[in-house]
Amino acid sequence: MPASTPKKTTDTIAHHDSTKALRRPEGLRACAGKDAPSEKCHGRRSASAGTLPCVTALDVMTEFGSTGRIGPLRCGASLTDIAAVLGPPWDIGRVSTRTRWPHLFSYGHVELCVCRCRTVTTLSAQTWHDVVELPAARTNTITSLPARLTYRQLTAALDAAGCCWQPVSRQSPGGVELRTRPLGVAFTFRTDDGPEPLLENASVWLDPHDCPPLPPGHPDDGFGA
Ligand SMILES: [Zn+2]
Repeated sequence: MPASTPKKTTDTIAHHDSTKALRRPEGLRACAGKDAPSEKCHGRRSASAGTLPCVTALDVMTEFGSTGRIGPLRCGASLTDIAAVLGPPWDIGRVSTRTRWPHLFSYGHVELCVCRCRTVTTLSAQTWHDVVELPAARTNTITSLPARLTYRQLTAALDAAGCCWQPVSRQSPGGVELRTRPLGVAFTFRTDDGPEPLLENASVWLDPHDCPPLPPGHPDDGFGA
């Protein structure tokens, strides 16, 4: 059996396919608004969300491009701290079959790659769903939002928010990618589904860090050693 080659974390999650399991059954078009019930809710939901101003998937993605945050999720944050706010994440699984860490979790359609020290090293929002489930900043709940955002919509919103962006120099076939500045949030669009490029994924990642060992006697946070 050939030895598997360790991959960079960012590459691993960018091409990770496990969320296909979260794909909704074809034909299900349940959500017409932000408070529509979610088929899979992996976090707390606020009954009072309906009284808050409407937030769209475009708002959340524009904020992500500008700040690197999706609600309480951000690279460099501790999963333990995030779970204290959003509730426990969905456990997707290991990056490598050999070791538990780094490990993949998700909140709604946002995947997190988490280092053994519990630091979130990658955020990757799977925005190709017709309705995308994203953590909302104001309510700290997972909210279902109609998606299918176009290149034109997102770049106009980034411009309006004063967020700098530029296309990446090497584009992949069937796709278009741009990165925001200075945070380097990557937005990838597919160009083979309709007249306009549609947002497929939005990701940001940390450079490799010196990972501190968990101190002896570290309390069990439920995520494993
Ligand atoms: Zn670490």
